[in-house]
Amino acid sequence: MADVLPFQAEVKQLLDLVVHSLYSDREIFLRELISNGSDALDRARFLELSRSDLRAAEGEAAVRVWADKDHGTITISDVGIGLTREQAVDHLGTIAKSGTKAFAAALKEKGTPAGDTNLIGQFGVGFYSSFMVAHKVVVDSLSGEPGAEAIRWTSDGGGEFTIEPGTRTTRGTDVVLHVRSDCTEYLDDSRLREIVEKHSDFLSYPVFVGPVGSDERVNQTQALWTRNPREVTDDEYKGFYKHVAKDWQDPLAWVHITTEAPLEFQSVLFFPERRPFDLDHPEVKRGLRLYQRRVLVLDAADQFLPRYLRFVRGLVDAPEVQLNVSRELLQNTPVIGAIKKQLVKRVLRRLKELSREDEKGWLTFWENFGTTLKEGVAEDSENKDQLIPLLRFRSTAEAVEPPAPAEDAADAGKPTVPGKWRSLADYKIAMKDGQDTIWYLTGLDLGRMRANPQLERFKKKGWEVLLLSDPVDEWVAMNLNEFEGVPIKSVARGEFDDKNDDPIAEEARKQAEPFIGWLKDELSGQVGGVRASNRLTDSPAVLVDSEFGVTSNMERILRSARQDVPKAQRTLELNPEHALVRQLVGLHAAGVDDPEKLASAKPLARLLLDYAQLAEGHVDDAPGFAARLAALMSRSIVAGPAGPTASAS
Ligand code: ADP
Ligand code: MG
Repeated sequence: MADVLPFQAEVKQLLDLVVHSLYSDREIFLRELISNGSDALDRARFLELSRSDLRAAEGEAAVRVWADKDHGTITISDVGIGLTREQAVDHLGTIAKSGTKAFAAALKEKGTPAGDTNLIGQFGVGFYSSFMVAHKVVVDSLSGEPGAEAIRWTSDGGGEFTIEPGTRTTRGTDVVLHVRSDCTEYLDDSRLREIVEKHSDFLSYPVFVGPVGSDERVNQTQALWTRNPREVTDDEYKGFYKHVAKDWQDPLAWVHITTEAPLEFQSVLFFPERRPFDLDHPEVKRGLRLYQRRVLVLDAADQFLPRYLRFVRGLVDAPEVQLNVSRELLQNTPVIGAIKKQLVKRVLRRLKELSREDEKGWLTFWENFGTTLKEGVAEDSENKDQLIPLLRFRSTAEAVEPPAPAEDAADAGKPTVPGKWRSLADYKIAMKDGQDTIWYLTGLDLGRMRANPQLERFKKKGWEVLLLSDPVDEWVAMNLNEFEGVPIKSVARGEFDDKNDDPIAEEARKQAEPFIGWLKDELSGQVGGVRASNRLTDSPAVLVDSEFGVTSNMERILRSARQDVPKAQRTLELNPEHALVRQLVGLHAAGVDDPEKLASAKPLARLLLDYAQLAEGHVDDAPGFAARLAALMSRSIVAGPAGPTASAS
């Protein structure tokens, strides 16, 4: 009896996309199906290590492909672990992987981007790619699970599929494609061989192509990672990457390590070209495939690389790593630690090469993965010095460019505002005479940061300021103390001791002292202190973070992550030369003998603080500020320049 079941809604969407928008890449259906056969062989081999009750395979562990011109079919056959009825329904009828699910959600949001292979390229559509060339797909499978029965899964790629008893008598899976009339080129063995050579040459199981009996082995079968790196071609690495990472795009670069002593292991690591949209999803398990003597042990072992390198894809074959009884969980052994150290070293070395070889390529990498890599500056003190030269920053020296056109927004991972990036070395070279410090400002919004009064003096002097606008930058900055002997400091912290010894400025400072003392009392509890500023040229006041401890930006980041943080104690700095400040100083001086005048200065004191907050883009007490502003407005109308008589006329 055949059961008819609907596809999950997301699968249907994916199928529509696959069938309608990927004509140019159609031949990759074969890579996907062979790759699945290889995965099934891997899984069987792994289970056989710990279980004796599995149905044994018959014949060589291999994937076989043949075409039948008379029936218009291509069959991809393996003797892997097979599929039970339940698995066929689950794995071929729904999308279980959270990544693909999120992809489907993204599609829903943006509508089906017909022809957008870039978006789809981030997701292995895998099995469903068979519908690019087939109008009907039949999967005949017998699972290795004891007691499982042979099943047949059939679908025409519409809304549903059927499940019925199958005819396979030995363990494994046959995927039979009924080829569409416009895809008959694939019914030719030599064409199939060509595709296998191109996309699946690196597979560690033999792939045979041709009619059963007279078929030929097409690929090399030595596991790619065990081969001499000098003998592996770029195309082999690229094909292998697509298999391992289930990405459709070529990798940006790779590292291949084979060592014998003191520890035997092999590893191939890849840097993807673009940021996966789910790189930061906490549910997505990231890690390397772990093999032991070419047998897959773990799909995502996260013990081999630090978190800040979580964008790296690939595998490690490490026979000496110990496994526990269930052969699943790894103990945290010195062996793992030693391998990790090697991998990190090699990855960082490769990143350094990339950053030197090709500045433009490096910036692409940086725009995709910079925020992730930067975490290492805070997390990995051992390798901090390797990471710092890789960092790139926005800065006041860059030209502001217009935002990219809107359609680019669909390209996840692409920045919407391309800009000029600066390294610390660039900065150092551009330092002005008399400048002995690398300056930066942290914040969350580049636009607001550029307008921050804290930059005034620096602009005037022509000193560049790095603009650190990622949340993680606060932590990066805490760990950036110097670069090649030049101290690195925040423009918004502590006292800026670049004294202006102009006599007029000196005089203004002196005159402002009593007012500043009074203001300190007026604002006590609201600010940590009040002092005359060396930072300002155009603005009357600015708020400054203390030299040590939590900055106001970090406070905001932590608050938005719902963390409890003490309020940062900030200092209000006044520009004694500013006309407004001079007037306030005058008002205060007159108020010493006139309590009424002094009382009128009080609300202005609090408004000065509101002003300084507003200039940064955040008012702490918005309702209070609104009330103070309203009071000020009505007072200025009552006592304003026109006077009450003006309205009476
Ligand atoms: P992926 O390979 O990324 O998991 P696919 O769409 O290629 O995604 O395949 C979906 C699932 O179907 C696989 O994870 C596997 O469980 C199952 N599957 C596909 N082909 C086979 C096969 N030849 N043998 C056993 N299981 C298979
Ligand atoms: Mg697959």
